[in-house]
Order: sequence, then C-alpha cells, then structure tokens
Amino acid sequence: MTVPLVAGNWKMNTTVAEGIALARSVRELVGSPRDVEVAVLPPFTHLWALRDELAGSAIQLGAQDVFWELAGAYTGEVSAATLVEVCGWALVGHSERRHLLGESDEAVGRKFACASATGLRVIVAVGETEEDRDAGATFSVVDRQLDAAFAPLIAQPDPDGFVIAYEPVWAIGTGRTATPEQAQEVCAHIKQHLRERANTSPRALYGGSVTAANAAELFAERDIDGALVGGASLRAEEFSAIVRAAAGGMPEA
Ligand code: PEP
Repeated sequence: MTVPLVAGNWKMNTTVAEGIALARSVRELVGSPRDVEVAVLPPFTHLWALRDELAGSAIQLGAQDVFWELAGAYTGEVSAATLVEVCGWALVGHSERRHLLGESDEAVGRKFACASATGLRVIVAVGETEEDRDAGATFSVVDRQLDAAFAPLIAQPDPDGFVIAYEPVWAIGTGRTATPEQAQEVCAHIKQHLRERANTSPRALYGGSVTAANAAELFAERDIDGALVGGASLRAEEFSAIVRAAAGGMPEA
C-alpha cells in the first residue's frame, strides 16, 4: 500500500511564536494518524523551535528550500548539511522560487542532488503555467523540469527518499484547484515518465488550492499520493481535516 504524504508549506508566514502555536495545534489535532505521513515546512527561522515542539509526535519537519553547495561563500543560503541536523525534508523547485526568484530547472536539479546526498528527503515541485496548459504544453514542461531535476543525481535515488509534487502554477494560491481528473492525468504521466527515464517510482502529490472541501476527491484518484498544501496549512483544523481525508481515502494501489 502506498502511504500518502500531506505536507504543509507555510511559506513566509507566522512569527516564531505563532509558528510554535500553530505546530502545537496541528500536533494535537492530527494526533497519530495511521498510514499517512504528515510534515510541516515552516520558515527556516522556526526549525529548531519546532523540532522541540514536535519531538515525539507524528509530525515531520521540513525546509522550504535548500542550497546546492554544502558550505562556502554563499551569503544568505542554507546548507543541506545544517538542515539535516534539524529536519527530515527539503522542498525544491516551488513555483514561487522558479517564477518570482528566477530559479532555473538546472538549479533545482543541483539542489535535489545535494539535498539527497546528505540524506534529506526531498519534495521536488513541478508544474506548468496557465499559458503552458493553454498551449497544450503541460506534459512537455513537466518532463523538462523532471529531466533537469534528475540530471545531476549521481546515484539512483531511493523512491522513499523523494516525492514529486505536481503543482500547476495557475492553481497555487488562487482558489482554482485542478480538477481531480486533471491532477490525476499529470500525476500518472509523471510516474510513467520517471519509470521510463529514471527507473524509479516515487509518490506523486498534488498541490494547488487544496482544502478540506476538495481533498477527498483528489485523494480518491489512483495516482495522487497526497498533497502539498499552502494556504490551508496555516489553519490547523483545516490541515488536520486534509490529513484525515488522506488517511481515510486512498484507493488500493
Ligand atoms: C503551495 O504553496 O505549494 C500551494 C499549493 O499553495 P496553495 O495551497 O495555497 O495553493
């Protein structure tokens, strides 16, 4: 059985005190769910405090980004070597980094390779813009992003060591969720592409305006193995309802 992952990307939200309170609420509401992995990705500044807050709980911790070198003159960047001391996951390739900060496909690949090499588990985000979709280029854009992400990896990645998050850019923070059919189609395509190109079968998450109201129908799709949740992850009740939907509603693999 595929164990789904529900990861909350808090983005640049909450003070440290607010983050501790949110983590506490998530911890209490989520409890110890069976057969689902849960992670929260707070700002870097919160990681050590949240490690203590979440110790002994089922909630895992991750970072929203990571650099591609382990140390050196890279002002402002954060090394996988230090992240691995405090958390288990790192997100790379989020569309806000690709589009607002100009992060290239190649940079995402270097980050993935470096983070994997340190033992961090990695969420690799890919997804097309609205223009790409309208031009019928969804699969080719996702394939290009995947191929670039995998190019610098030295060793065959362990499929438990990473997940792909399919996040159509037009659905992120817009309230415009992809339909379950659209999300399923691309998640299935991602798995097929990685089987053929990289001989690996990771989980595929969907991300883009996931809420408690639409999570169950997304999770009912065969190739959607969880969610990367932005806005709704800042509301503990709603995030825990999404986790419950994942725990209860996965189809047989
Ligand atoms: C995200 O930031 O990864 C995301 C999916 O955001 P939202 O859920 O707010 O659309």
